[in-house]
Amino acid sequence: MKALMIEGEGVCAFHDVPAPRPGPGEVLFAIRHVALCGSDLNTFKGLNPLVSLPRIPGHEIGGEIAAVGAGVPDVFAVGRRGLVVPYTSCGTCPSCRRGRVNACRGNRTLGVQQDGGLTEHIVVPHEKVILNDTLAPRHLALVEPLSVGFHAVARGRVSADDTVVVLGCGMIGMGAVAGAVHQGARVIAVDVGAAKLDIAARYGAAEGIDGSAEDVAARVEALTGGDGADVVIEAVGLPATFTQAVDLVAFSGRVVYIGYAKEPVTYKTQFFNMKELDILGSRNATIDDFRAVVDYLDRRETPPDDLITKVFPFAEADQALPYWVAERESTLKVMIER
Ligand SMILES: [Zn+2]
Ligand SMILES: [Zn+2]
Repeated sequence: MKALMIEGEGVCAFHDVPAPRPGPGEVLFAIRHVALCGSDLNTFKGLNPLVSLPRIPGHEIGGEIAAVGAGVPDVFAVGRRGLVVPYTSCGTCPSCRRGRVNACRGNRTLGVQQDGGLTEHIVVPHEKVILNDTLAPRHLALVEPLSVGFHAVARGRVSADDTVVVLGCGMIGMGAVAGAVHQGARVIAVDVGAAKLDIAARYGAAEGIDGSAEDVAARVEALTGGDGADVVIEAVGLPATFTQAVDLVAFSGRVVYIGYAKEPVTYKTQFFNMKELDILGSRNATIDDFRAVVDYLDRRETPPDDLITKVFPFAEADQALPYWVAERESTLKVMIER
C-alpha cells in the first residue's frame, strides 16, 4: 500500500509499505480522512525534536474498521466508522500512575514517535478507536485537535460563571473557544485579523479582539468591568502571549498554557503571588475530552466544515505540507481525503 513519508526537511514522497494485519485485540482501520497538525508541519520543516525520519505523518484520523483481529469485541464490526485516539502511554511513569495518561512521560503519538495515518490502513488496538456512525469521516478527523482545546478548558475548570479569554484562534484555540462556550462560559476570542475571529464567533465567542488593530489589554479590561478574565487560555505559543496571559487574568484566576513557546519566556513573577494564580499546563487530551467533542459535534446543527481550509486527494498528499507552509496565515486545517 502507498504511504506518504517525510524524509527530511522540506522533503516528502510516496513509498510502498507492507500492508499491516491486525493481531489479537487489534483492528485494521481504513483511513478516509487525515487532518494535518502543527506537529506534522514542524516535522516537515525540521523543527520537531520528538520525531525521527523517515516518518509517515498524521494523527488526526477518521475512517472505518476494515478487519478485526481475534478477541476484539463484536461492537467493533467491519464497516463501522470512527476515529483513532493517536496516543500510546507507557503505563508506568508518574503521570500514568496518577491516571493522567495524556501527559505520559513516554507518550508515543502516531505520526511522531511511530508511523501515522497518511497511508491507506493502520493497525491499532481496538481501545484506540472511538466509534461514531453519524459524523462524516472528515469531521471525525477534526475531533483530536478540538479535543486538545477541550482539555485545556477542563484543566482551567471553566464553568458558566467564567469569562474566558482565548489567545489564538488556530485549530486548538478554536477547540478551546468551542469547549468553553459548551461549558456555558462567556468567551472573548483574540487573534490577529478578522477571518479566524469570524469563525470563533460562529463557535460561540461573544466578543472578538483583533490584536493587530486593537489594544487587547484595554479591551479585556473594558469587557470585564476592570476585573480581568477568570480564565486565560494561551494557544499561540509566543513569549509575548505567555506573559500577556498573566496580565489579562483576574486576581485568583487561572492561566492555561497549551501553546508551546520555542524560545525562553521572561516573566515578572510578582503577579503569580499577588494574584494567587493557578498556572496550568495542558497536554494532548483524555478519552473523556474526545468523547465530549464527538458529543458536541453530534449535537451541533451546523457541520464544522468552516474549520477545514483545504482538502487534498490522497494522490496529491505530497502537496499538502508545502501548501500549508506557503499559506500558513490563512490556513486553519489542511486535510487529505482518500
Ligand atoms: Zn493534532
Ligand atoms: Zn506514562
